[in-house]
Amino acid sequence: MVDARPRLLVTNGLFLPMDGSPPFEGWMTVGKDGRISARGDGPPPAGIAGIADRRQLDVGGRIVAPGFVSAHSHLYSSGLRGLATDDALDGWLATTGRFTVGASPEAIYWMARHGAQDCLINGVTTVYDFCHNGLTFQSSPTGPARVAAAVPSVDYQHAQLRAKVDAGIRHLHSVMLAQAEDDDALRAHLDETMARAADTARHPSHLGLALTGTVQWAGGPWAARAEAAVMSKFGLVNQPHFLETAHAARLQRARFRWYQDAGALGPALVFGHFIHTDERIIEATAAAGGGMAWQPASNGRLGSGVADIPRYRDAGIRIGMGLDGQSSGDLSDPWANMRAGLYMQRAAHADPTCLGAAEVLALHTRGAAELIGVGHDVGSLAVGRYADFLVVDPARPDTGPVWDPYGTYTLACGPRNLVGVYVGGTLVADGNGLVDQLTAARVNDQLRGQLARLRAEDSVGRDRRCLRPGPAFW
Ligand SMILES: [Zn+2]
Repeated sequence: MVDARPRLLVTNGLFLPMDGSPPFEGWMTVGKDGRISARGDGPPPAGIAGIADRRQLDVGGRIVAPGFVSAHSHLYSSGLRGLATDDALDGWLATTGRFTVGASPEAIYWMARHGAQDCLINGVTTVYDFCHNGLTFQSSPTGPARVAAAVPSVDYQHAQLRAKVDAGIRHLHSVMLAQAEDDDALRAHLDETMARAADTARHPSHLGLALTGTVQWAGGPWAARAEAAVMSKFGLVNQPHFLETAHAARLQRARFRWYQDAGALGPALVFGHFIHTDERIIEATAAAGGGMAWQPASNGRLGSGVADIPRYRDAGIRIGMGLDGQSSGDLSDPWANMRAGLYMQRAAHADPTCLGAAEVLALHTRGAAELIGVGHDVGSLAVGRYADFLVVDPARPDTGPVWDPYGTYTLACGPRNLVGVYVGGTLVADGNGLVDQLTAARVNDQLRGQLARLRAEDSVGRDRRCLRPGPAFW
């Protein structure tokens, strides 16, 4: 089917569709709904080749690929990079948490907004965003850390939803249940969260709500039961952080049973990180059709460990890649993330064939989208998906001839080659930053202002090694 009056016609591209079909040199059209309406090899059919110039985009032989999908992000952490440089997860949480505990809904809005625009600039057009719920972490030397038991204000999570909608990044908005054994309090908090989110449901960037599972950090099995009930009532994907660190791994593994007993295992339960597993957990997860989100750059940075991706893949566990927060991955660079993962796996297995270059690209596009249940909307350049795509120029800077499109794109390119980021067929970033530079500058200023205020109010930790005051710091 040819769309005779497309909103945009992309021609002369080297397409990596990532939908199971091979790369091709050709064209693509975007319909009025912002979705891909047709595509094909070679020049476009005569019926659409003559549309007005302003609706044509000749990419001059450059690579056209789907926008990256991050199956695991924490956008609010974008302004907290380069902190806790030599800490594991608990120490990193303690340091960065000092900024979130005092943050107002307005402050957390600008923190998340900065994270969203930073993702777009780097070619990440869809995120599964774990919004911060405003509660603190309490670490323990002998057991897993705990999320403080409390019912936080819904305003705090909702501000992070508004930030994503305003930034125009496609997203799943992942919310954490209140931490209380009181069913009425839990239900009231969730109902208000859902009602507030419903206001944004019609915005095309909003792909839905999801659940931030807390069993790794919860006070008891009630958390798994509450999550299972919400998953089934509202049909939500639930992504708990699970088995991320080696700390108290035996105790963490014992909590897998909480999810099993609650009946939560299945395609809608997706484990974030999932590093320190055992055979019993791998087999049960695979048998239930479950999945895992893999964040190699963050796992390396925090010394969390190496998830055995070839083992999970061969067992039949669904896998997608995520960037994790910009303060534990420090960059929103999906190419660096893919390569960190690829190198980590090949080195650990002493085998370059254990994970392929095209395969790792699939994990950060279609695989990530399917993992979090949005593969019908994003993650590939198949007809019907949103026209969220990147134009990448392997000749700027020049990487030499393109012998293998997957090889050049995955192994030799990066944000420096990015010349266009399109969301729904509209250019949002051009390789130098957001097209809307005034808004981008305003977001950057707001982030700095909000964080400076939070730091000034932080009377307990100003002398900490990780927060060196000084003219260069801010
Ligand atoms: Zn995370």
